[in-house]
This record gives sequence, C-alpha cells and structure tokens, in this order.
Amino acid sequence: MIDFDLSPEHREVERAVREYAAREVAPRIRELDEKGEYDPKIGRQLGELGFLGICVPRRYGGAGLDYIALGLASEELEYVDTFLRVFLSVHTGLNCMSLLTWGTEEQKQRWLVPQAKGELLAGYALTEPNAGSDVVGLQSTAVKRGDRYVLNGEKTWISLADVADTFLVVAWTDLDKKQRRDHSGLTAFMIERGTKGLETGTLHGKLSVRAGNTGWLAFRDMELPAANRIGAEGDGFKIAMFALDQGRFTVAAGATGLVRACRDASVKYARERTTAGRPIGEHQLVKQMIAEMEGDYESCRLLWLRAGWLKNEGRRNTRETSLAKWRATVASEKAAGNAVQVFGAYGCNNEAPVERFYRNCKAAVIYEGTREIHTVMQADYALGYRTDRPLARSLPKYEAEP
Ligand SMILES: Cc1cc2nc3c(=O)[nH]c(=O)nc-3n(C[C@H](O)[C@H](O)[C@H](O)COP(=O)(O)OP(=O)(O)OC[C@H]3O[C@@H](n4cnc5c(N)ncnc54)[C@H](O)[C@@H]3O)c2cc1C
Repeated sequence: MIDFDLSPEHREVERAVREYAAREVAPRIRELDEKGEYDPKIGRQLGELGFLGICVPRRYGGAGLDYIALGLASEELEYVDTFLRVFLSVHTGLNCMSLLTWGTEEQKQRWLVPQAKGELLAGYALTEPNAGSDVVGLQSTAVKRGDRYVLNGEKTWISLADVADTFLVVAWTDLDKKQRRDHSGLTAFMIERGTKGLETGTLHGKLSVRAGNTGWLAFRDMELPAANRIGAEGDGFKIAMFALDQGRFTVAAGATGLVRACRDASVKYARERTTAGRPIGEHQLVKQMIAEMEGDYESCRLLWLRAGWLKNEGRRNTRETSLAKWRATVASEKAAGNAVQVFGAYGCNNEAPVERFYRNCKAAVIYEGTREIHTVMQADYALGYRTDRPLARSLPKYEAEP
C-alpha cells in the first residue's frame, strides 16, 4: 500500500525547522546575503537544535529520525535560504552519512558523535581547481610514509571551507593509478582544522549562497595518521560517490523548497500587483508561470520522497536520487526565473526575495553533479548503458530506535 501522508513525527520536523528558519533567519537574510558574511551563530544553532544530526542514530548522538525527515528539513531550510540547506548537504549528507556507513567504530566515536551533536561542523572536499566533474582528474596526493600519510594538494569551491572543523577529503594514494586515471587509486581521509600543513580561505564575489561560507583548502606536507583514513586504501572513489548519493538527496529536497518559495512569493505578489485595474494573477500568462511552479513543486517533491523512501528501506537509490536532484534543481532555476518575471522590475532588486532565489538556484544546478552529468546519467540508465552494481557498502536501512 502506498501512503502519501507524513507521520506526526515528520510533521513535527517540518514545523520545527520551518519555525526556526522563519524566526531566526528570514528577518535577517537580506542583510546577511547583502553583506556576504557568514554568521557562525547560525551553524551553532542548527547544531544545538539537533538538525545537523537529524538522521544519525541516537546511539551516535543524533536525533535518530529517518531520511524523509532529512529531506523535509532540507526543503524547509532552503525555503528561507539556500545557505541554510547547504549545512545539511555537506555536514549531514556528505560527511556524517559517509562516516556512519564507512567509518570504524572508533572513527564514529571520534567524529560522528560530536558532529551529530553539532559540536563539530563538517565539510566535504572533493573538487579541485582543475577537477570538478572529472573526479579522476584531481591532483591531490597522500603518500604513505611509515604509518602516516603526507598530503599535498588543493581543494576549491568547498562549502564551509573556512569555518568547518573537519572535512572528508579524497586524494591519490597510488600514483601509478593516478597516471592511468584508475579511480581505484583514490583514498578518503578525515582531516581536522588545526592540522599542521592545512590552510583554508574564503572565496569572495560569489553569485550564490552569499550568506554561507565557500572557500578553499590547501595541504602542504600535511601529515595524517593512518587512523584518519576512511575505508581501505583505494576506497576513496566509492566513498566519494556514496557521499554524493546522500548529498544530492538534500539538494533535491532543498531545490524543491526553493520552487515552493518562488511559488509562494509569486502568488502573493500576483494577487497584490495590478495592471489595467486587475490583479496580474488574473492574466493568463502570469497564471501559466504560477501553474508551472505548482506542477514542478508537486512532482519534484514526489521524486525526492521516493528517493528518501528507498533510503529508508536500505535499497539502492543512485538513479532515483540523481533524477530527483536533476529535476528539482532545473525546476528551481525555471521557477526563480519566472518568479523574477512575475515581479517585473521589482524582481530585479533585493527588496524582493526572488532576486536572491534567482542567484541562489544557479549553484545547485552545478554542484553535486552538474545538470549535464545528471542528464547523461539518466539517458545512460534509460539506454541501458549504465546499470548499478551492488554497492560495497549501503546506507543503513532506517530502524526506529527505542
Ligand atoms: C557554491 C558552491 C559550493 C560548492 N561546494 C562544494 C563542496 O562542498 N565540496 C566539493 O567538493 N565541491 C563543491 N563545489 C564544487 C562543485 O561540486 C563543482 O563545481 C562541480 O562538480 C562542477 O565542477 P566544475 O565547476 O569544475 O565544472 P566542470 O566539471 O569543469 O564543468 C564545466 C562544464 O562542462 C560540463 N561538463 C563537464 N564534464 C562533462 C561531461 N562529461 N559531459 C557533459 N558535460 C560536461 C559541465 O556540466 C559544466 O557545464 C561547490 C560549487 C559551488 C558553486
């Protein structure tokens, strides 16, 4: 039987996150975005409220909720601003879920527990100056010396780069495989701020997520003990891709929230603004833009809910998550463009939220798999050129804890 109702617990998550974002962030978001400054208080609040550990089991310091709850929180956060949802993408989706699935018990106690409690803020650093979509083009190396690894390289366009305490990073441990672009030479590591040889910085002049921090990491002869390696040597690509299955899910749900935000702002404005003595909402072509937002919101929500349901069941969802991420981010770009159109000239000024929505939506069409990468993936699945083999490790099936 298919049940389209949210449980009382899910409704409570929706209410709590919605109220927090409306109360604490919405009144300040225009100013935060305009200044382009990250307010560390917000990351701390998200942690204290338990949102950052929302789907981490209670035994590891989290709220013990399911993956639908993670999606609902993502949708509600991005309804107010994309930078809020980015925390759930990088901290929870990309980093915590990877530790939960790939970390040893010792590593979970060391990083997952404080991250789930919001005591540490976590990021994910895959992209490099010359390698985004082309993961095997990355250049960072981790050369083994005795029982330690020495990392050299640079990561860029990393969310929370200048503010997170820990990062999941990927580097080549097998330099022959690096030459051959064989991804089984990549290895994943957890790194901590304060490690000798680690430098971070902030990127300025961004189009999107201006209220959030995005930056770079540099490793210069940075030594890490073997205890910081996640998985085995050579598991780095699998872990990076596994992480993206979780991060993309939050991006999908978040972009769906952005479509809803565009719809709500457009509906309000279309009822108030008049031309020729009639509210603009009565013009057919304005109705069409709002109808597109409505249709896209409902269909994108169903797509991410299905992906979340598969995660809860412990089933492979790479294809469904990619579809949800692709459709929702493309829909949010269309919705934001149309929302500015509905507002006319007033949509071209940051007095209207839709101006920010129009800038914010763009980055999500690029990160966690560009529009083109997901388009190719979906075509390849449909054509039978791509099939999913069983995963080395799967996200744990959701089990309610006592
Ligand atoms: C605000 C923001 C935050 C980010 N946060 C993070 C983060 O926290 N961690 C992290 O690791 N990265 C992060 N990124 C980086 C992001 O993941 C990359 O930008 C993304 O993977 C694309 O890589 P690229 O920018 O190098 O573009 P490229 O890979 O160089 O692509 C350029 C263009 O070519 C197209 N293209 C490339 N390859 C193909 C192909 N095979 N087929 C068809 N078209 C192709 C792309 O679709 C795109 O249009 C962030 C980016 C932004 C903008």
